[in-house]
Amino acid sequence: MPLLGLGVYQMDDEQVQVAIDAALENGYRLIDTASFYGNEFGVGKALQSAKVDRSEIFVTTKVWNADQGYDQTLKAFEVSMDNLGLDVLDLYLVHWPVAGKYMDTWRALEQLYKDGRVRAVGVSNFLVNQLEDLANHSDLVPVLNQIEFHPHLQQPALLDYCAEHQIQVQAWSPLMQGQVFDVPLLQELAVKYGKSEVQIVLRWNLQRGISTIPKSAKPHRIADNGNLYDFSLSSEDMERLAGIDQAKRIGPDPADFDF
Ligand code: NDP
Repeated sequence: MPLLGLGVYQMDDEQVQVAIDAALENGYRLIDTASFYGNEFGVGKALQSAKVDRSEIFVTTKVWNADQGYDQTLKAFEVSMDNLGLDVLDLYLVHWPVAGKYMDTWRALEQLYKDGRVRAVGVSNFLVNQLEDLANHSDLVPVLNQIEFHPHLQQPALLDYCAEHQIQVQAWSPLMQGQVFDVPLLQELAVKYGKSEVQIVLRWNLQRGISTIPKSAKPHRIADNGNLYDFSLSSEDMERLAGIDQAKRIGPDPADFDF
């Protein structure tokens, strides 16, 4: 799986076509969608018309909370696959750890994995206690946990658990939904390295081995956001970035959500 991908939340079918074309042209090979985003059909069309071969593109989608449970998840998966127009999916995720349901949902993902319908299965928004619960009831370890992660929410204990159990971490809202421009240290490093605040934060993700899926609907931003390979942050600056964690979420708390 490539570490850098394009997130397509809050884009309609037409916007994803433009965004995916731009992403592929600029070297991205990972697309992150979800049934909840309502644009799997557009993602599928963009993949079908892409100049890059399907085998080179890594596609992730997720089962939504209202579809959780064993049978419902298997059904939801088929709907997603029809929309995407795919025979095999690269990665299927449990979108949120819905209490009382995520274990049955995980069993459905195990089945899809055993049946060869997905190449890999993982989770999203799982905390350490929920990952431990999975480990206690299943032999299949999620390959990936997609979590809110940015300079103000670094979740060190969760990252340690994932590293120990070889679970790849993937950052959602890596750009703090556009707020990275307001972070003084990122402003300072942007000047120092001659890069944008967005490029600093994404490069920081990559240097930490964290997969990252910034969203933009704008081709010029998609190009800039992917331009991360001609510089590197010093270990001193990496440490300074580690020092600005505020344990502050932008999105919902996986320990306390009601949707
Ligand atoms: P991001 O942190 O990626 O920020 C996206 C925002 O930043 C948009 O408003 C975008 O605007 C803007 N932006 C992007 N690039 C630039 C740039 N170069 N300069 C200025 N502004 C920029 O937020 P998301 O919440 O979208 O997270 C990314 C992805 O993570 C989602 O698309 C989705 O795939 C995934 N996600 C998963 C969740 C989960 O529960 N598993 C929850 C939330 C997100 P514009 O489009 O106009 O460029």
